[in-house]
Amino acid sequence: MSYRAYIQHCIAPDCGAEFDLDARLFVCSRCGGLLDIERREKIDSAPLRDLWLQRRASLDPRDRSGVWRFREFLPFPEDTEVVSLCEGNTPLYDAPRSADYCRLPQLKLKHQGCNPTGSFKDTGMTVGVTQARKLGARLVVCASTGNTAASLAAYAARADLLCAIIVPSGHVSHAKLAQALDYGAKVFEVDGNFDTCMDQIRELAEDESVYLVNSINPFRIEGQKTVAFELAEQLDWRVPDHLVVPGGNLGNSSAFGKGFRELFESGLIERQPRITVVQAEGAAPFARFFSDYQQERFIKEEHPETLASAIKIGAPVSWPKAARAVQETGGSVITVTEQEIADAKAIIGRDGIGCEPASATTVAGIRKLKINENESVVAILTGHVLKDTDYVIKYHNGSLVAPYDQRLSSTFANIPIRIQSVKSVADLLR
Ligand SMILES: [Zn+2]
Repeated sequence: MSYRAYIQHCIAPDCGAEFDLDARLFVCSRCGGLLDIERREKIDSAPLRDLWLQRRASLDPRDRSGVWRFREFLPFPEDTEVVSLCEGNTPLYDAPRSADYCRLPQLKLKHQGCNPTGSFKDTGMTVGVTQARKLGARLVVCASTGNTAASLAAYAARADLLCAIIVPSGHVSHAKLAQALDYGAKVFEVDGNFDTCMDQIRELAEDESVYLVNSINPFRIEGQKTVAFELAEQLDWRVPDHLVVPGGNLGNSSAFGKGFRELFESGLIERQPRITVVQAEGAAPFARFFSDYQQERFIKEEHPETLASAIKIGAPVSWPKAARAVQETGGSVITVTEQEIADAKAIIGRDGIGCEPASATTVAGIRKLKINENESVVAILTGHVLKDTDYVIKYHNGSLVAPYDQRLSSTFANIPIRIQSVKSVADLLR
C-alpha cells in the first residue's frame, strides 16, 4: 500500500477537483468546497482485523494509540513520526439506567470524553498536528468553543509547535480555557460567537508558516473516522442499527459517515449504521435544513443559543459532509430542548458515566426517536463531565437558567445535605 495512493478531493458534485495530499489547502482552491481525503488503491482488508487486534498487545507507540493502530486507512507513509498522546481506546459502556429512560432494553455509550484532553477532538488532532509537522508549519491555529482549543494546545505542545487559539470572549467554560492555558497556547479572545471566530480565522490561512486545524481540515476528519473502526471492533464487527451523535460543527457525524463507509466498502462490515444527529433546539440549523425539503440552501443560525456550549454553533462548516452521512445511511436529524438535555445528562450520570451537556443531546434524542425494541443503539458521548462543572452544580442546586431566562427544572436533583453528626448518615439513606 503506497501512501501516494491518497489525494485530496473536492466533494462539490459539480467540481470534483483533485489536489496533491500535501497541498496546503483547507477548502477547494477552485470552488471553495470541502475537501475529502480519498484512497485511490484498493486495500487488502483480509488480514486487517487480526493485525489490529495483535497491535493491542504491542508496545510500539503507534499501536498504543487507538487512532494510529488503524493506520492502513490513514494517509501517511509508514515511517511517519506521529504526534500522539495515546488517544482513542475509549470505553464502550452498557448504560442500563439511560436505556430505561429511553424505554429501550439496551443502550451502549461510547465515551469519547475519555480521551487525553477529555473530548473526542483528540482523535482528529493527533492526525491534524502530525500533518502540520510534516508540512513544516511553525504555528498551528484554530477557532474553538473550547474542546478544540484544549486539544490543539496539548498536541501542539507535544509537537513543539507554536499554538494560537481564537475563542469567543466569555463563551468558553473555565475548564476548557484552563486546559489551553496550561498547555502553553496563546489564547486570543474575540467579541462575538464561535462563527465570528471561524470567519476571521480563514484570513490567516494565507500565511505559509501557519496551519489551520479547524474541523474543516480534512486530516482531522481522517483521525476522527477511526472511532468508527474502534467501535466496530468493540462490537466484534457487528455494527449497531443506530448511531446517535450530537450535532454542532458536524465534524463528528461527517467522520463517522466516512469511517463506516470505508469499512463497508472494504468488506470489513456488512452494513452501515443509521447515523442520527441531535442538535439543541436553539442551535439547530442542520435540523431545519433536513426538516424542510423546500429549503434548497443551508441557512445559518445567526444567534445560536444553548447551554451546551460545545454545540453552540450557527454556521457548521462541515454540514455538506454530515448531510451526506445522514442521507447515505438513512438516518435523521432531530432537536432536543434545554430541559431534555439537562435531564438526560443527569440520567447518564446515574449510570456512573460523566459527560458534558452537549453529549447528553444523544440520550435526550434517543428518548424521542421511534426505535424498535430489537434494534441496537450506540450513542457517542463527546466530552467529559469535568469540562463544565458549573452546569452540573447549577442543575443539581436548582439554579440552571437556559437562554432567554428560562429557568430549568432540576428533575433529578442531588444536593449536598448539611448534617451535625455523621451518625445520621445511615438513617438518612435508609
Ligand atoms: Zn471544488
